[in-house]
Amino acid sequence: MTTPRRFTGDTLVIASHNKGKVREIADLLGPYVATFTSAGDLGLPEPEETGTSFVANAELKALAAAGAGHVALADDSGLVVPALNGDPGIYSARWAGPSKDFAMAMRKVEDGLGANADRSAYFVCALSLAWPDGHVETVEGRCYGTLVWPPRGEQGFGYDPMFKPDGHGITFGEMDPAKKHEMSHRADAFRQLVERCFK
Ligand code: IMP
Repeated sequence: MTTPRRFTGDTLVIASHNKGKVREIADLLGPYVATFTSAGDLGLPEPEETGTSFVANAELKALAAAGAGHVALADDSGLVVPALNGDPGIYSARWAGPSKDFAMAMRKVEDGLGANADRSAYFVCALSLAWPDGHVETVEGRCYGTLVWPPRGEQGFGYDPMFKPDGHGITFGEMDPAKKHEMSHRADAFRQLVERCFK
């Protein structure tokens, strides 16, 4: 196995146009990076997510932003339901449509499951760090659980109200966000990335 490349520069581009996401990532990596900027701030175009996996989409977004000359970090995430052959997967955001209707997206998941006894699911978060020379370091974090119906809780976002993480009696929608952030797929991915490239 080759040694992972470490982040040694001082500026990191967060390859996102979502201000909330940019802030969250800057908070998580604050101890390791002097200056943050974002694809939105730099006016970079958003590449089309044409990959067929979370990893491929995170890598194509990170590489596109790194083309501007700085190391760039991108993520891609979603909910995988094995009984639905992996759906909604990389299409998790798209299942909610342009109006971001996650009540509808969750119902679509539930309708797909029907009487299926396998209600297991997991969230995935791929994180990719790309350098202007084309090198990438990518990790994938996961959080396993079970799907419940009806959805429960007002916290969180997306599919959180129907996802009950393993070992817990409440859904992510009912959970204190700080507690979710300790055990989520995103937390898992960031722990791996920090270990690999930032420590
Ligand atoms: P992305 O921002 O393009 O990676 O899209 C991720 C999509 O996956 C979101 O719109 C949500 O639908 C779903 N998703 C990702 N992470 C979570 C989570 O922690 N809770 C609930 N839904 C999530």
